[in-house]
Amino acid sequence: MSLAYGRPYLAIPGPSTMPDRVLAAMHRPAPNIYAGEIVDMLAGIKPDLRRVARTTQNVAIYIANGHGTWEAANANLFSRGDRALVLATGRFGLGWAESARAMGVDVEVIDFGLSHPADPARLEAALRADTDRRIRAVLVSHVDTATSIRNDIPALRAAMDAAGHPALLAVDAIASLGCDVMEMDLWGVDVLVSASQKGLMVPPGLGFLWISDRALAACHGSDLRTPYWDWERRVGAAEFWQNFCGTAPTHHLFGLRESLTMILDEEGIEAVWARHARLSAAVWAAFETWGIAGAGAGCDIALNVADRRYRAASVTAARIGGGGAERLRAWCEAEAGVTLGIGLGMAEPRSPAFGDFLRVAHMGHVSAHMTLGVLSVMEAGLQALGITHGAGGLAAAAAEIARGGQVGGQAGGQAGGGQAAE
Ligand SMILES: *Cc1c(COP(=O)(O)O)cnc(C)c1O
Repeated sequence: MSLAYGRPYLAIPGPSTMPDRVLAAMHRPAPNIYAGEIVDMLAGIKPDLRRVARTTQNVAIYIANGHGTWEAANANLFSRGDRALVLATGRFGLGWAESARAMGVDVEVIDFGLSHPADPARLEAALRADTDRRIRAVLVSHVDTATSIRNDIPALRAAMDAAGHPALLAVDAIASLGCDVMEMDLWGVDVLVSASQKGLMVPPGLGFLWISDRALAACHGSDLRTPYWDWERRVGAAEFWQNFCGTAPTHHLFGLRESLTMILDEEGIEAVWARHARLSAAVWAAFETWGIAGAGAGCDIALNVADRRYRAASVTAARIGGGGAERLRAWCEAEAGVTLGIGLGMAEPRSPAFGDFLRVAHMGHVSAHMTLGVLSVMEAGLQALGITHGAGGLAAAAAEIARGGQVGGQAGGQAGGGQAAE
């Protein structure tokens, strides 16, 4: 007997849960791509994409996943042999570095490990040491989905300004846009990349770049660009098809139209941020209670990021030692219809330690009942599997949800970003 019959729930950090309304908007015959509804619709989508990233500057849409947006950014930011400085705080930061290196960029990585955010002081020192100004851009993940570290983008920008270095700041917001506070213009971000399948609640397939006027001018003539990735062609498109360098992602655009309306015009972006902050605080409270010291010998449960100022609002990475994370994931899926995320980049795949890590997604179309449901199932699994844990995790999570008004995790480092208060 299994209790997994019923609507399944995928709590992995992308693809995220998609609203039925988004899927329904996509369920229709192919539109004419030369005139009519979809051509008119794009004129509204582009301003709304700017609103979601809080910028008045340029936006380009690609048929691509997140990896594609890395290539799009690299192709425009760099000429062959230019130098990139990558601030890595997990698998995804390293992935962007690998992508740039493979394209012929001279990549320098500062690796901050798997539990701590990028340190602005080290960034400033690295830029000051670059006396001949070879570093063309600094690449960093806002949220690294593997570690659930959220980097303090305004502090990193401030470090660049303090060093007086002209490098551009390029930020991967694939796991944070539509979840965590993002203020592209206020924070001085030059290039922002994101994709459709996480906070934006649309199936995988659309990639987005937002480009500051400064970056657009500075990168004119970069020699890594090919016609498909060239952002100038897209930003300056006169004809509809030029926005996509060919056939438009028709059905994804219908889905995106629906999700942008839900995020911007119905719930409101600030309320979306606040909801994610509350949900993440509930998840953290459960883990902190399960992992409480004194729960008993053998209790080995901990959040990956100790300092709550640097925890993502969209995803939580945690450790349950002794292979507990892997056993719990298997139990939740088979016995309760909930799929949790695997640990990524925390240990060698197929090594024993790999089974010690998991991730819980709380990104996109996720309500309190969904997050409390996941946590309840996890607590049941901890009991069923006899994994030593502190009592009261669910009560602690419920208390966070009940605590109206206050939001967790948005204070401090994201200063200048406008707090996600309700
Ligand atoms: C998901 C993700 C990616 C990769 O996106 P794909 O669509 O899988 O290529 C890159 N960066 C971050 C921060 C992500 O969360």
